[in-house]
Amino acid sequence: MLTSGWKSVSMVDVHGRVTFTLWLCRCNLKCPFCHNWRIAEGLDCFTLDRKALLDELEASSFLVDYFHVTGGEPLMQWRELSSLFAEVKLLDVPVSLNTNLTLIGPLERFLKAGLVDHIATDLKAPPELYGLPEKPAKKLWELFLRGLDVVSDYGVPLELRIPVAKGLNAWPYVEEGIKRASTNFYVVLNPLVGKPLTNPRDEEWCSAHCWPDGEVKELKRKLEELGVEVHVNQFFEFPSGHTGGKIPGRA
Ligand code: SF4
Repeated sequence: MLTSGWKSVSMVDVHGRVTFTLWLCRCNLKCPFCHNWRIAEGLDCFTLDRKALLDELEASSFLVDYFHVTGGEPLMQWRELSSLFAEVKLLDVPVSLNTNLTLIGPLERFLKAGLVDHIATDLKAPPELYGLPEKPAKKLWELFLRGLDVVSDYGVPLELRIPVAKGLNAWPYVEEGIKRASTNFYVVLNPLVGKPLTNPRDEEWCSAHCWPDGEVKELKRKLEELGVEVHVNQFFEFPSGHTGGKIPGRA
């Protein structure tokens, strides 16, 4: 498997949980705001030493709530990931998967096999957040909604992350996505940030749409009116600092 590394104890990758986080390389999307694009493109990657990973996970398992896999898009390497998850299950560590929910076949296999205990995903409003023309972006959006249906069918708890962009009205899509998520979920609003805190794939796009302002408050208000539990990524409130772990904008 191609990885860019792991962190044995992280408190910033799943809201309110301690995780052992593994980053896997490659992705099927090309989001313009992606700050992990080098991992998504398969750069800065090396072959995973599975034994070293599992040894370290076993040693820190008493500390962690989830073995969390992110990327990139982890399901790009679903065959190898499936056997890795099976080994992690033998250590009795719950598994959390961060996926863009567009690779439905592998997703369904994993859930059917009971390999995943928690899902995290980004709700990306089309077309702008996909960086694609309207038609293919809408197709990906439909796949994402089907992914939400699958997660809901299996009743897997969900962290629904919403990347918030400046000057774009995401509400109709947010509302549609919320209605489709009929499992136990909460929302994390991730205001998109650019340089110097992140290194987005498309700097021009980011100069137009990063650093939202009123959009975050407005979205939070509307979601809370629907009775949704909402958290705002803490880094938004402290823009002079950041983390080496999860950065707003990752799928
Ligand atoms: S934001 Fe996520 S889904 Fe989009 S390109 Fe980056 S890794 Fe892939």
